[in-house]
Amino acid sequence: MAIKITRPQGTEDVTPKQIYKWHTVEHMARDTAEAFGFHEIRIPTFESTELFLRSVGETTDVVQKEMYTVKAKETEFTLRPEGTAGTIRSMLQNGMLNDALPQKAFYILSCFRHERPQAGRLREFHQFGVEMAGSPGPASDAEIISLAKAILDRAGLKNIALYINSIGCPTCRTAYHKALKAYFMPHKEELCDTCLTRLEKNPMRILDCKSPVCGEIAKDAPIILNYLCEDCQQHFQQLQTYLRAMNIEFTINPKIVRGLDYYTKTVFEFVTTDIGAQGTVCGGGRYDGLIEQMGGKPTPAMGFAMGLERLIMTMERQGCAFEEPTTCDLYIAPMDAAAMSTAMQLGQTLRASGYQVEYDLMQRGLKAQMKYANKIGASFVMVLGENELQSQKANLKNMETGEQVEIPLNEKFEEKFDDIAVQYMFHDMLEDLKKECQ
Ligand code: ATP
Ligand code: MG
Repeated sequence: MAIKITRPQGTEDVTPKQIYKWHTVEHMARDTAEAFGFHEIRIPTFESTELFLRSVGETTDVVQKEMYTVKAKETEFTLRPEGTAGTIRSMLQNGMLNDALPQKAFYILSCFRHERPQAGRLREFHQFGVEMAGSPGPASDAEIISLAKAILDRAGLKNIALYINSIGCPTCRTAYHKALKAYFMPHKEELCDTCLTRLEKNPMRILDCKSPVCGEIAKDAPIILNYLCEDCQQHFQQLQTYLRAMNIEFTINPKIVRGLDYYTKTVFEFVTTDIGAQGTVCGGGRYDGLIEQMGGKPTPAMGFAMGLERLIMTMERQGCAFEEPTTCDLYIAPMDAAAMSTAMQLGQTLRASGYQVEYDLMQRGLKAQMKYANKIGASFVMVLGENELQSQKANLKNMETGEQVEIPLNEKFEEKFDDIAVQYMFHDMLEDLKKECQ
């Protein structure tokens, strides 16, 4: 026998049984983003490697260790490790930034990073993200943060903290880098190899190192908030005022620098302790330099990305509600080939009206068919045999109550089924209401 092939390490399948959870969060996120006037953008799964080198940054973990780069014929590509670079590339390429500002886009996409797989850290994972280009002021920072918060609230999450920080602009960063270098120099020998190169090129990156040794050394490092220029300070203060106005609780965490190089001023994370060590469900910030760096006109911008696996995991841990998966409205059990033809015709009509209809495709006996109908949670079952075809009437059985109603098999069939289905829906809603009231 051939050896079974399994999925690559760090990837996951979502089976049809589990998909309703994904539909729930995708629907929730889409809907909320649209309420803020964002529209969906779809970008390629792979881009030229250069795009990520230039945007994500050469000294980041993502670029230094985690990119999936493939060579096809003579051209090199990289599977997107995140969505911002591609979205901004697309905004530039499609002239969107010459249109009315701010430009607002959201995406749901898979990302690829060659990381060590563990709970909450995959090699292929999914993000919901938003990007807003054109708006410089702190109101847009508050807008982006409140959008993320609205999605997490709608998911029903509790126990998720918002941390904010400002990592300043190139002006404040010059002085800060100097201070960091001076701080880390005496520890040069202890730093990991990656951080050693960062010390020269981008010392702030050391604060984001996952190595416990570097983390320990970085503990008492100078904090950026003490180096902010006047403009960045005011921006950060005003953001806090807006967040308070919207009753969005936050904690300032001067240690947040984020894993990608393009951030300026505001950075933020939503973190939960309910899913283990990888608790950052959402991360984002302002990236005022990126668009110019990518060849566009200087344009301020801001965004976030939410890890959907982590979001779903947190919802599961916290017992949040998911949208119910759809189930079969009508299962038809045909007893012979003639009845099968009728089942097909009736099914065709009802399906065209949006009902979920199934009939036997396994040539099973009645008992086995009933068992199957139960298993798929069919609301109604209708048996079709010789008698039913002859009389052009059948019994529609309500699987919850066992009640049976006669239904004509002629052109009146759909109308009658509609009636019964509507009654059933109301009955169900009433029952739900009663339960809620109790
Ligand atoms: P972390 O510090 O956890 O590595 P990051 O800074 O690399 O996160 P971002 O690049 O900001 O993460 O991505 C945004 C979000 O995407 C994260 O907050 C997280 O929810 C999710 N995410 C990032 N990397 C992974 C991964 N390897 N597996 C699953 N989700 C991920
Ligand atoms: Mg990471």
